[in-house]
Amino acid sequence: MKISGGKEAGKMKDEELEELRRKFEGQPPQQTLRWALDRFYPTIAFACSFGAEDMVLLDMISKMTPRMRVFYIDTGLLFKETYELIEKAAEKYGIKPERYAPELTLERQRELYGENLYQRNPDLCCQIRKVEPLKKALAGLEAWVTGIRREQSPTRASAAVVERDRKFGLVKVNPLVHWTFKDVWKYITENHVPYNPLHDRNYPSIGCTLCTTPVAPGEDPRAGRWRGRDKKECGLHL
Ligand code: SF4
Repeated sequence: MKISGGKEAGKMKDEELEELRRKFEGQPPQQTLRWALDRFYPTIAFACSFGAEDMVLLDMISKMTPRMRVFYIDTGLLFKETYELIEKAAEKYGIKPERYAPELTLERQRELYGENLYQRNPDLCCQIRKVEPLKKALAGLEAWVTGIRREQSPTRASAAVVERDRKFGLVKVNPLVHWTFKDVWKYITENHVPYNPLHDRNYPSIGCTLCTTPVAPGEDPRAGRWRGRDKKECGLHL
């Protein structure tokens, strides 16, 4: 695969993005990934949460190139199963995922903002523990790759396979955007991709321990995130 660097994302016009969206809509994710790597490497990175979708992408990327930067946001509040999976994936794929953590320790956050900020002001908590570290991870990049799917929630229903991320000023590449839950698990099974055992315990979407619960049959896959609140996104994918 040809990998050439590029400094063109900032120059990409809306018409070009629209053309790319049409070109890659419904195409195999590997095709989108190949194009993205060729176009943006080395100023592209994969934001990996180690959820089912991201494990699919990690597997695909690892089979394509050892050179893609892979990073994750460690809020300090991830499940022990998630930390274990990060180690397992690093070993299986021979990668060193870059860890981005909040500037504030949990203790310092408590001192500054009081107990249980995640309950009183989850948007602020996510801003401190997720969005700010993400900004650092994305600094200097032209594009990032994410595992979001339209089916996951109404907030993601209009996501495009290639789009402008106005919040972070980058091109956002979502190779699995058109995939179904079934597609994800078919790939995981057929390719023996490791996954978080919490998925087998009715956690289709996994975030921080304090804000993630299992879902009941028929519920939205993200219904277990910030249960009982209006909040549906942590601010990374708005
Ligand atoms: S998901 Fe919950 S605990 Fe995690 S950063 Fe957001 S509000 Fe805080």
